[in-house]
Formats: sequence, C-alpha cells, structure tokens
Amino acid sequence: MYESIRDNVHRVLARIDQLRPGEGVKLMAATKMRTLGEIEAAIEAGVHLLGENKVQEAQAKYVSKSAVPLHMIGHLQTNKVKYAIGLFDGIDSIDSERVAEALNRRLNVTMPVMLEVNAGREEAKTGLVFEDVRSFLAKAEQWHNLLFVGLMVLFPASADKSSSEKKKIRDLMKETGELWRMSQKEGFSWAPLTELSMGMSEDYEWALEAGSTMIRLGAELFGARPKTGVM
Ligand SMILES: *Cc1c(COP(=O)(O)O)cnc(C)c1O
Repeated sequence: MYESIRDNVHRVLARIDQLRPGEGVKLMAATKMRTLGEIEAAIEAGVHLLGENKVQEAQAKYVSKSAVPLHMIGHLQTNKVKYAIGLFDGIDSIDSERVAEALNRRLNVTMPVMLEVNAGREEAKTGLVFEDVRSFLAKAEQWHNLLFVGLMVLFPASADKSSSEKKKIRDLMKETGELWRMSQKEGFSWAPLTELSMGMSEDYEWALEAGSTMIRLGAELFGARPKTGVM
C-alpha cells in the first residue's frame, strides 16, 4: 500500500545524490493532510525530517515523538506558540517580529529557527521580502532564545506557468542563493544560517542547482493532496 511512497522517497534521494553528491542535502517530507501510516512509510524509506503546517494537526497526529525531527513550516499564530514549543524540534517559519518575540518570550532554552522569506513578494504569502532580511537578522540579536539556523524560502507556484515565467522562478532561486550567502557573511553569532530550505515538488531540481540544503516535498512523495482534512 505504501510502496509508491517508498519508491518516491528513494527516487528523490537518488536525484539529490546525483545533483549534489556528498553534500548532505536533506529531504523534508511536507506532511500536511497525510496519515500517520503514510508518514511512517516516508520515514522508513529515508526522509530526514518532517514538516507540518498547523499546530493543531500536529498535536492530533503525533501523540509520541516521531523518529526524525519534526519542524513547523506553516504560519505560527502567537496564541499557539506555547503548544508549538513542546511539539516541534524547530520552527522554520518565523515570518514577523511579532512571532519571533512571542516565541522568544515563552522559551527558556535555545530553539533552532529559520527566517521565512517570500521570494515572489506575493500578497497571499507570509514571510519577509528580500530587502528586509538583513535588518531583521541584525535585530534578531535581542531574541536570546532563538538561533537562526537558516532561511526558509517560498516561491510562486510554477506548475501552470509559461516557460518564460518558469525561467523567472529559476532566476529568483539563484538570486535567493546569493542572498543566503551574503546573509551568512554578516557573521552574526545568533544567525549562523547554515540551512537554505527551498524547493518543493514542482521546482526542487532548480532549487538543488541554486544551492538549497533542504527540500520540502509533499505531492512528489505522497501523491496529490487530499482536498478534505484526513489526518
Ligand atoms: C505543502 C508545503 C510544501 C510541499 O509542497 P508540495 O508542492 O506538495 O511539494 C513545502 N513547503 C511548505 C511551506 C508547504 O506548506
């Protein structure tokens, strides 16, 4: 029943190895709306991490700790912060100062987090636009319990786009790789930024070419997403 998931995970891991041999690029399974059975099949096949979008869904699904790290990749509501701290090994979706502050206030040990970047400047998405990343990171020194280990970057969907628009996304990924390297060079001790989490099912090969260290895949591993909430 889960053979296709296993095959999909193995195929993607092989592709990573082909494009970026020996670099330790990580495969995160984006597990929103997936069942625990599907998720366990993906873990067994070798995904390195899990990403969930909603605190409530994660609370319902993971009654015990998963065998691989579980990260939050969706918008974190400030009233859910206290639950998120116990559930997740990392929060990859710090998308505002408000969230950073709320999370920092509740923590009493350091938590690895990522700054979310909205590369396509899309209204419907959260995250910082490119030109705000530097000043945000400079300010992040004040949140003593947050260690910014990376950037998690969102791109416009590319599936239905013309080839010229697809090229734009590909160029945007290269630009993002440069932004990431520049941000690393700031040398902030609170923001080592070793990770660049970019690339989803539609565009992960481009992301790997552009320097991504972590790809986040849902449909490519599990098939098309169910429309209604199966948990
Ligand atoms: C759902 C989701 C993904 C995976 O999307 P697919 O297109 O199914 O690969 C990656 N990142 C985030 C933040 C997501 O919400």
